[in-house]
Amino acid sequence: RDKIPHLPEIHVESNLNLLLRRAKENRTVDIEEYVTTGGYSALRKALERLKPEDIVVLVEESTLRGRGGAGFPTARKWRFALMNPEPRYLICNCDESEPGTFKDRIIVERDPHLLLEGMIIAGYALGAKEGYIYIRGEYPAGYLILENAIEEAKSYGFLGENILGTNFSFDIKVYRGAGAYICGEETALIESLEGKRGHPRLRPPYPAQVGIYGKPTVVNNVETLSNIPIIVTYEQYFMNIGPSGFYGPKLFPISGKVEKPGVYEATMDITLRELIDMAGGIKNGKRFKAVFSGALGVYSEKDLDMPMDYSPKGFGGTGTTIVLDEDDCIIDSLLVVANFFHHESCGKCTPCRVGTYEQMNILKKIKEGRGTEKDLEYLKHLSENIPAGSICGLGFSAPQAVSDALRKFPEEFEAHLNRSCKVCFPDSG
Ligand code: SF4
Repeated sequence: RDKIPHLPEIHVESNLNLLLRRAKENRTVDIEEYVTTGGYSALRKALERLKPEDIVVLVEESTLRGRGGAGFPTARKWRFALMNPEPRYLICNCDESEPGTFKDRIIVERDPHLLLEGMIIAGYALGAKEGYIYIRGEYPAGYLILENAIEEAKSYGFLGENILGTNFSFDIKVYRGAGAYICGEETALIESLEGKRGHPRLRPPYPAQVGIYGKPTVVNNVETLSNIPIIVTYEQYFMNIGPSGFYGPKLFPISGKVEKPGVYEATMDITLRELIDMAGGIKNGKRFKAVFSGALGVYSEKDLDMPMDYSPKGFGGTGTTIVLDEDDCIIDSLLVVANFFHHESCGKCTPCRVGTYEQMNILKKIKEGRGTEKDLEYLKHLSENIPAGSICGLGFSAPQAVSDALRKFPEEFEAHLNRSCKVCFPDSG
């Protein structure tokens, strides 16, 4: 524990007290405190009173969806894996690398046993004997905290051989990534865990069929797995938390021009406007301009009343909210996103490798006031063709922010073509 670096100050707020119940203060909850505040009782209940299938049914009824961005129903993923023979593996994806996303680190750094308990229960439900946590290399404290928590859990009999005196055995190992965003893509993550270069695999077959070492593998995000002890504890009452079809707590990392940036826990019927209000509203009383959702969509004032759920008209994704105000330039922010995708493209697919480079250069040209109408046409062309020729989520989403902004903020592009953007050309009058 002495080696654990200082944890950053991140504001955390919750009126649900579920995922963030023990994580409001900037410190790591140890196993003693975790157990005395009800921790590992869901694991005890699962092993003593529930069959693996009972847990899958509970997760099915909970409507839990993957919190890593894709929003895929968790129980459906588990069922796919269960259709394939043992050995099965469980991987926790903690490669949280999307810009503005820092929610999983709160769980890992402050309440690591919640994640471990979720993983052990998931391992029991899946018939897995081994689980891996793939944590991004830029979270050195999280890595040491998890290593320490694993040792604590073993010493209490919650992890390892014959957990709580039953015939269920499960072990967890932690691996550090080396700074590649693409390793958050589940098949690239598996390649990286196997010691290979982190390139996404062609799908099908899916990891639930052919995953790590060629065996059925479930890859779930930190927040997703941390919901499992809550679901097992609450059972049917879990359906009283949040709106129909999107039950349960959700974490929202908010940054940018808000008074209180941080991680907020809320139900998914909260709207984007309410979430920004929860974070204290726009900083210094300025006017709202836009929200960038991590590296993905761009939202305008018209979108403020959208729910933060996974419905087709909902916010979805990781819930990452980067707020821009009247002093920010949309093209400038798009360029940051475009640089990110160009830098992180693994290069396997030509449309993604070349298209993200082209997208970045065109945006740079537009930002500097050298753009033309033809460049806007080319950006539209890229937004259609990068995803069409890509095999993974990075390529699908690389042009999303640009195509959203072209539709929602045409005046910002116009203001650069005629060099009248007040942010980029302050002398334009
Ligand atoms: Fe790599 Fe991009 Fe292809 Fe994904 S879409 S595999 S990031 S080149």
